Amino acid sequence: MAKDNYDQTNLNELTFKSAAPGYWADENVSPEDWNSHTWQLKNCVKSLEQIEKHLTLSEEERAGILLTGTKLATSVTPHFFNLIHPTDPGCPMRRQVIPRIEETYVDPADMKDPCGEDSHMPVPGLVHRYPDRVLFLVTDRCASYCRYCTRSRVVSGVSDQKLEIQWDQAIEYLKKTPQVRDVLLSGGDPLLFSDNKLEKLLTRLREIPHIQFLRIGSRIPIFLPQRITPALCGMLKQFHPLFISIHTNHPDELTSEVRDGLGRLADAGIQMGNQSVLLKGINDSVEIQRDLVHKLLMCRVRPYYLYQADLIEGTKHLRTGINKGLEIIEGLRGHTTGYGIPQYVVDGPGGGGKIPLNPEYVLDKNPERVILRNYEGKKFVYSEPIESKVPTS
Ligand SMILES: *Cc1c(COP(=O)(O)O)cnc(C)c1O
Repeated sequence: MAKDNYDQTNLNELTFKSAAPGYWADENVSPEDWNSHTWQLKNCVKSLEQIEKHLTLSEEERAGILLTGTKLATSVTPHFFNLIHPTDPGCPMRRQVIPRIEETYVDPADMKDPCGEDSHMPVPGLVHRYPDRVLFLVTDRCASYCRYCTRSRVVSGVSDQKLEIQWDQAIEYLKKTPQVRDVLLSGGDPLLFSDNKLEKLLTRLREIPHIQFLRIGSRIPIFLPQRITPALCGMLKQFHPLFISIHTNHPDELTSEVRDGLGRLADAGIQMGNQSVLLKGINDSVEIQRDLVHKLLMCRVRPYYLYQADLIEGTKHLRTGINKGLEIIEGLRGHTTGYGIPQYVVDGPGGGGKIPLNPEYVLDKNPERVILRNYEGKKFVYSEPIESKVPTS
């Protein structure tokens, strides 16, 4: 029987703290600079020397920083860098953005393009896998680089494969493909564009009559909340219905600056969902996931997907088994707000698209009745309607 792990004392500790100025305390950074996204981007932490100024590194990390730079760049905004523990190599924030030597190990199961995107591009940068919607990769740059990036083969500009970006071709394809009613902008991170550049792109998409729904996938609200300015929100709200899928994995990423930025987006009428990746040693427990979804709801963000980690080259050390994800969903369903429960999915390796995974609640089934269990493990019988009793030979 599932035990109830809803611990009220722990809930009271869900606070939204600022970590600023943190490691920059001695550098006399003015609040104007700190709160400016251009200052944050200019001062991203990238080199071994800059990292070691603040963090005590393990051998695995130091070797990783020196050796992994041709696969995916290292870069962390000062805002996010402040969330990293100075000495603990197990710190969940550290493990997401500081490389380790394990990134150079290639497992036989690993793939360069685990979601099979390159083979589903009718024009460069536009992934058309599902009938009515497309993924439009509009840039190869992010504010910071996640070590488990599903697009590390083309993102950050250091690997041999470059993301080809052909906006005119992509827009032409969308114009002549009326079954596409939903365009998801991703990359890289589309919110790195200036307001002006993003507005021009959204305007061109909105001019296509059959495109009903726009969304942006972005980790900027987490890595660079300073980018979520009132001007950006005012621009975005002209393009409704516009949804934003944010990406956060651990409750400590939700600082007061992040909460305030998300609040500005929500006030602009933007519906937000969160996409998390299940990562070993980072968020692979019911307790962490429960705190994460509770904090997301407090930020007016609905947990959307929990992804099983893709089979990306050099990321085996960050992957859990699928049973862990099922255990997490089982630990949430019934135990907390239904709005807080993401759909657990695995991207079918090689290009199968998102496949939902759910704990088994059906214990037995025949044409007359289905035997179910609830979140507490109690059994229930549902009698099927008479129509379904037609004998099946
Ligand atoms: C995830 C994804 C989408 C969007 O899928 P939803 O389930 O609608 O969020 C669209 N295209 C591609 C290629 C994707 O990977």
